Amino acid sequence: LVSRHFHPEDTIVDVDGVKIGGKEVVVMAGPCSVESIEQLREAAKAVKAGGAKFLRGGAFKPRTSPYDFQGLAEEGLKMLREVADEEGLKVVTEIVDKDDIELVGKYADVYQVGARNMQNFQLLKALGKAKKPVMLKRGLAATISEWLNAAEYIMAGGNDQVIFCERGIRTYETFTRNTLDLSAVAAIKELSHLPIIVDPSHGTGRWEMVRPMARAAVAAGCDGLIIEVHPHPEVALSDGDQSLTPKNFNALMGELGKICTVM
Ligand code: PEP
Ligand code: MN
Repeated sequence: LVSRHFHPEDTIVDVDGVKIGGKEVVVMAGPCSVESIEQLREAAKAVKAGGAKFLRGGAFKPRTSPYDFQGLAEEGLKMLREVADEEGLKVVTEIVDKDDIELVGKYADVYQVGARNMQNFQLLKALGKAKKPVMLKRGLAATISEWLNAAEYIMAGGNDQVIFCERGIRTYETFTRNTLDLSAVAAIKELSHLPIIVDPSHGTGRWEMVRPMARAAVAAGCDGLIIEVHPHPEVALSDGDQSLTPKNFNALMGELGKICTVM
């Protein structure tokens, strides 16, 4: 079902009028984690002013250490919806448990499956029955074929609204947090009709590299970007090192405008 062989035309995922997979590049941006209403509101204003269409932010945080901030759960989801509605933005947020589909779906426009859950087949099967689009991040060390199969799990359940997200993979390199594999954009475009977006924030782990890699991703032909933006990265509860300030985000959006049409 994911294969371009049986479905030659590009699929456009339409999130209430925001089209992912068409001619325009769609930008999703916001903090790694929802921390407070004030933080989220400040981030959302910056994201909107820059021209993004989606507000991102995690309420359920899959952290490497169990002692790190785990997210605000439903309280965070409520904040996301409230602030996104104030700014006229859509919401994309991570789901980590198949039993949370109804809960997350109450507040989100797009479900995000994180890298650590790319092969959580129970979650993928459950999302196959969900009525909203799924943004499927590439697993920490997943091959293209494993990733396509993960999307197949969702589509096999009846949900054909799937968006791939390249977010970097584990390699021997330690300078960057992950190795952003932009060749995945071309590979997915060849093999599948589904849209693909790129996450240069997790893909590099370094805010200085986010702007150049975002530009490169767009040049490679991706359908959108997801970027971490925090009003005060130095005090972020997660991923401050890879978060853009509002000023840098705005500068990036200006740069993108020169190489593509940002929706
Ligand atoms: C995130 O988007 O904040 C996140 C946890 O991403 P990933 O699943 O790609 O690590
Ligand atoms: Mn993050």
